Amino acid sequence: MRILMVTSEVFPFAKTGGLADVASALSRELKRMGHDVRILMPRYYHIDRASLRKRDEALGIWLGRGEEWTAVYESELPGDGVPVYFLDHERYYGRDGIYGARPDEGFKDNAARFALLSRGAFQFCRMLHWIPDVIHCHDWPSAPACYLLKKEERWREFGKTLGVLTIHNLGYQGVFSLEDALYLQRESDRFNLSGLEFAGALNFLKAGIICADEITTVSPTYAGEICRPEYGFGLDGLLTYRRSDLTGILNGADYSDWNPETDRFLAPDNYSLDSIAGKARVKKKLQARLGLPVDSKVPLVGVVTRLVEQKGVVELFAPVQGALYSICRDMAVQFAVLGSGEKWCEDELEHLNSRLGNLAYYRGYNEELSHYIQGGSDFCLMPSRYEPCGLSQIYSLAYGSLPIARATGGLVDTVENYDQSAGRGTGFLFNDLSPHVLYQVLGWVMDTWYNRRDHIRRMRRIAMKKRFLWETSAQAYLGVYEKGLTKIKGTSPGRVRV
Ligand code: ADP
Repeated sequence: MRILMVTSEVFPFAKTGGLADVASALSRELKRMGHDVRILMPRYYHIDRASLRKRDEALGIWLGRGEEWTAVYESELPGDGVPVYFLDHERYYGRDGIYGARPDEGFKDNAARFALLSRGAFQFCRMLHWIPDVIHCHDWPSAPACYLLKKEERWREFGKTLGVLTIHNLGYQGVFSLEDALYLQRESDRFNLSGLEFAGALNFLKAGIICADEITTVSPTYAGEICRPEYGFGLDGLLTYRRSDLTGILNGADYSDWNPETDRFLAPDNYSLDSIAGKARVKKKLQARLGLPVDSKVPLVGVVTRLVEQKGVVELFAPVQGALYSICRDMAVQFAVLGSGEKWCEDELEHLNSRLGNLAYYRGYNEELSHYIQGGSDFCLMPSRYEPCGLSQIYSLAYGSLPIARATGGLVDTVENYDQSAGRGTGFLFNDLSPHVLYQVLGWVMDTWYNRRDHIRRMRRIAMKKRFLWETSAQAYLGVYEKGLTKIKGTSPGRVRV
């Protein structure tokens, strides 16, 4: 099968979140299975042209008022040769930042920047004389490619090409002024906003959701949740309408990076299911390093997260009402928190760090410390408001650090709740997100730690055996491609009304 991934992020070239990992891991796995997979993304300023090869041809891409000329560079994913192509356009991509100069501020011309990527995908295929069976788009930045496929390209060379959209996080939709619609329209369609408009604005993701032949998201539970108003960010009605074309496929994890037996950051204290002693040594070193009392008997809870509302930080850390202060004050527990994000939250954590002897906070992003916290912790806390898939809990299972998580999205699909009567499970799940509930849940966990340690040991063994493999996920994506291709085979490639 010929598959084109159109995406704004691919690891290791550009990454702000899980999307980058999925784009590369899924492409790799599909290639390993024998498919012809190629990736198209922008050449952001930080991707050094000198490390890429320039192609001779340039692309002329129609963008609303005229044609934009882009150069095309190429490279491969490290190791396994999946071709990665880069659209190079100085005015749109020649600046620091992927979506904006700061994480909470998008560039003013993002509509044009990512419309160029979406439109460019089709010109790029024409240039290569390579018409894919599947164009697979990811999140709002490339969602318009599904719209363009259905609106314009199906009745050109792409009559048999399937448009697939994966939603990695519905909270980000690419919302712009209606005036920007011109980047996605033909001259003759200038006043027809159907498909593009939502709540008085241009909405890239909505355009993709309406037009994709198949839609996927990153866990089965999240696929159900986004059809409900609590999780739908306004698009739940539309997603319910498309429910039969919406599939939840859990992300895999990269166990070559995240395995306590081989993790270079844990050396020389690597450990495994059969030889667990190293975990206690990592815990001891972690406590010492973070300035916590070194004590193997006290449970250590790790929190490694972006400090944003989605992750439940308000209920956990907010001044006065957040649960963490009372938990630390009342319970024999320790916390190791690593994270960056909203400033109020970073400040509050520093404040708690200085007041509480059993809480350590590291401000910032630190890959090495994140591995060490997974290795040294007994538990990993994830009180997310919503969690499309979540990777932290998948890693923590492998490291025998039991998740304490809100029962939402991918957390439900990856963590088995503790069954006290059977003494089994892989973590502790709770439903309501409030400081009161967080306090009670931590009480439940402490009770289990101090009074039923045999259960904890058994749960740790079950958790460490769990595997979420990319191979399984890639098979599921292939199933979606095949289902979609069968579906569009019977339809005429004539002009489709949106
Ligand atoms: P999301 O993609 O919503 O942030 P995930 O759980 O899917 O949440 O993935 C988060 C990943 O980012 C995990 O691998 C986690 O270890 C890592 N991470 C988050 N914050 C930090 C940080 N401050 N330092 C190091 N790694 C971090």
